[in-house]
Amino acid sequence: MDCCVCTTMPLILRPPRNTICGLCYEGVRTIISMMNNVETEKVKGIANPNPNTCPASRRNSNYNLSPQTLDDCIRWCSEQIEQFNQQKEDLVFLRGFIAAFKAQIHTDILVSPGSHGPPIPAHKSVLAARSEIFRNMLEGDECKEEASNSISIPDLKHEELESLLEFLYSGSLGVEKLEKHVYALSQAADKYEIPHLLKHCERYLLTSLSTCNALETLEIADTCSNLNLKETTLNFLLKNIQHIVSSPKFEAFVHRSPHLTVQLVTRAFVNGAK
Ligand SMILES: [Zn+2]
Repeated sequence: MDCCVCTTMPLILRPPRNTICGLCYEGVRTIISMMNNVETEKVKGIANPNPNTCPASRRNSNYNLSPQTLDDCIRWCSEQIEQFNQQKEDLVFLRGFIAAFKAQIHTDILVSPGSHGPPIPAHKSVLAARSEIFRNMLEGDECKEEASNSISIPDLKHEELESLLEFLYSGSLGVEKLEKHVYALSQAADKYEIPHLLKHCERYLLTSLSTCNALETLEIADTCSNLNLKETTLNFLLKNIQHIVSSPKFEAFVHRSPHLTVQLVTRAFVNGAK
């Protein structure tokens, strides 16, 4: 079709009524409606401010509701790009803490892993800010006559503890470390109440779910009472039940987690009956 938007050289240009193809028309309608949805959510956010939403992004949003034209879309996109760049700068600024951790600048506490390995120097204020459980542990410590300058995290090995601390300082973790320690970190996030880490691990476990790791993922979802992850993993296991029950891992799983085996087998049975 001789569309004035997507054809490189339209044969007929008849201002003000140029022709536009179905795809371009639908595309523009979708962009405008998508933009309106985002703006409506933003207004809801201003009415009920979420402490996690960047206040600057709310303040800076001077965009009027119900954008109608492509010109509105372009201005809206520029505003989003500006906000995105500002958030990237904020993130770089906040991640400055990790430099203080790695260079061990003014550290005031030693965090010991459960098994072998030296304690890791850290900052009490960061631990207390990231986890209420750590804060309580440290406050309990201050009540004692002689406050000790070390705490122990018995559930984590040295390398796992290092990754946990790195996450507490920077708010993120490289894929390699996440892949290696995701189960230990999920449990630590649950135990020490670090929801951001729990969400991070959940996202990773969901995207990497496969027949090789689904049984372990189900166990960790159950231990951390993560219903979303547990349901998704159970459904995945049911879809691949024949492969799973014939895998060598299944027998060990049955011994390790009889209650989960019952849940899985019952669901498979009910599905089969249907
Ligand atoms: Zn077109």
